[in-house]
Amino acid sequence: MNPLLSLFGICLFLCSQLLSVAIAEPLDAELDKYLQLTNEQPAQASAFIRSLEAQLTPSTPAIARARLWSYLGSDYREHRDFAKAQHYIDLNLELAEKSQSEDIRTEALTDQLALHLAQNQPGKARALVSQLQEALSGANLERVRYYAANTLGSFLQSEDRYEDALQAYYQAFHAIENSSHPRTAVRRIYLQGAIAGLNTVLAQYQKADELLQTAIKQAQSDAGLNFMLPDLYLQLGVNYASQQQNSSAEQANQQGLQWARRLNNKLSIATLLNNLGDLRLKQGQYAEAVQLFTESRQLAEQLNYSAMVLTAEFNLGYIQVLQGKQQEGLAQMAAMVAKARELQLADTELLSYVGELADAYGIAKAHADEARLLREYNVLSQNIFKTDRDQEISALQEAFSAKEKAKQIESLEQQNKLNTAELAQKQLQQRVMLLFGLVVLLATALLYLLYRKVRNANLQLRQANDQLAYNSLHDPLTGLLNRRSLHEFMQKRTEQGERRQLPTAATDGFILLDIDYFKHINDHHGHAAGDAVLVEIGQRLKQLTRQGDMVLRWGGEEFLIVLRNLNQTALTNFTNRALQVIGSTPVPYQNSSIPVTASAGFLTLPFAGVDETQLNWEKALKLADMALYMGKVHGRNRGYGLVALHRPYEELKAQLETDLSLPIEQGHLEITLVLGPPQS
Ligand code: GH3
Ligand code: MG
Ligand code: MG
Repeated sequence: MNPLLSLFGICLFLCSQLLSVAIAEPLDAELDKYLQLTNEQPAQASAFIRSLEAQLTPSTPAIARARLWSYLGSDYREHRDFAKAQHYIDLNLELAEKSQSEDIRTEALTDQLALHLAQNQPGKARALVSQLQEALSGANLERVRYYAANTLGSFLQSEDRYEDALQAYYQAFHAIENSSHPRTAVRRIYLQGAIAGLNTVLAQYQKADELLQTAIKQAQSDAGLNFMLPDLYLQLGVNYASQQQNSSAEQANQQGLQWARRLNNKLSIATLLNNLGDLRLKQGQYAEAVQLFTESRQLAEQLNYSAMVLTAEFNLGYIQVLQGKQQEGLAQMAAMVAKARELQLADTELLSYVGELADAYGIAKAHADEARLLREYNVLSQNIFKTDRDQEISALQEAFSAKEKAKQIESLEQQNKLNTAELAQKQLQQRVMLLFGLVVLLATALLYLLYRKVRNANLQLRQANDQLAYNSLHDPLTGLLNRRSLHEFMQKRTEQGERRQLPTAATDGFILLDIDYFKHINDHHGHAAGDAVLVEIGQRLKQLTRQGDMVLRWGGEEFLIVLRNLNQTALTNFTNRALQVIGSTPVPYQNSSIPVTASAGFLTLPFAGVDETQLNWEKALKLADMALYMGKVHGRNRGYGLVALHRPYEELKAQLETDLSLPIEQGHLEITLVLGPPQS
């Protein structure tokens, strides 16, 4: 009896078989082969997976290594070598930590959950659920997500947490939804079976039937999927039996048994035999039932499948009660119920045992025990079949699609958030660019101002320099060139080698002028008037000259005029004009007009064809000064020009340096006289 009992064990067994690959690599291909082997030749699968361990090398990718260790652990678990199974789980947990892989962690935690259950430690398994769910939410590999969600689903179902179980199954479905992996068909069929089982438990028989018929059709259509048929038929049988459709259940179980025998699937054979026995039992065919239960128990013992042994023993006890051996029968049944509690079987499974035992007490007229167990039955039943169970489940189905929509909305919202963030980012960038632009603009303006300031400073500096240079070469009062400027000029003139050895070429003229009785002007009109006279005379002289000529303030009230490229006659004429311009018009000053005359001495350079290396400009000026002195001596307002030498310069040199009157008297020095304008 109790066909439901077999569900969970099968789930686990199938889960462990239905793993598949995501990464193609040599070891992965071998592991795929192993999966196929577990379906087709389970007896050889174990030796094969254990042989693969030798293929591990240090370069084996972590995820492939983890997969192998997971399969090895599962294999040892199937063979009830729990220590070894735990060893591989620990290896994977460590590997997950080291490689920071949620996939490996998820796979390892799933194995751990399965191991707890295999060891009948549902409490430990329960404690692991949230941790596994969390890891699963971070896992990426299709295979791992499927395996974990699926295992979780069957565990939650065994825990009577139907909503959560359905959720987990859907999650497993999602993992393989768009998969093109060869094992997808197997996994999909398996999930259909699992969800059908859930529907049977929840008395949604029609829904379960539909799912199972579809799955069976698919499993029949492909030889590679045939191995799934025994369990699908088994579930179909359970679904019929739950509806009291005994002949349909019988038929389904027989079909399952045929496939199981053909495939040599002992686990399914044991389960199907048990279920068939249960059907016989219901129909009062005790002898056949005993035969079937006994056969089932033997197989279960072979397989070390304790839950199945318990079922068979319980059922055999029940038959004993029915056959009048009440004492022994009830004792055996009660022992099995106690064992079921000890194994912490799910409420749904326990319910069947408790119900059957209550029945048996009734048959034996042990009404006190009957009542006690019925009360227990009611409590269990209430726990399981809550009146709003159907509502909850359909609400769950809706919630599932609502969750899908919510996910879409969430993803849209995230997209929006992203867009908003991008927009903000762009705005920020624009602002930064704007600010940058402003900074550049400000910096440019600042630079420009600085540049202007520097330029102005430079300009001022240059102006100052220019002023300085000007000042150094000009007389501050009259603005005329000063003595220093002549030195500079003559230096340049000498450097340029102008006419030094070309005495016959064009000559320059030197006229030295000194204002007559200037002391007198100062004394009579004041020093300022004297200054004004100097300025005025300077301007008059300047106006006489051409560009390139020079008018210098030579000393206090002395002027020097240097005229370029002119001959003696022109020089004499110019001196005449100079005396005229000074003496013909008095200098107006305030209310008075000051009559001014000047005396001059002049000559050309080179002088009298004498090479400038012999008679340089300094010597020439000395001669001009002596000629000027002659003007003073002879009545002022006149100029004397030295015109020619009639003896070689060398001969006259000594005389010319001291006194001009002698060489003039001797006719060695020819002079010319220019008179200023007559004064009143
Ligand atoms: P002479 O006809 O012999 O040249 O008589 P003079 O008065 O001009 O005689 P002298 O050359 O000895 O005197 C020059 C005077 O000119 C002396 C000085 O006080 C005056 N003097 C020199 N420089 C300046 C000046 O810049 N401004 C004024 N106002 N007077 C000056
Ligand atoms: Mg003087
Ligand atoms: Mg004078």
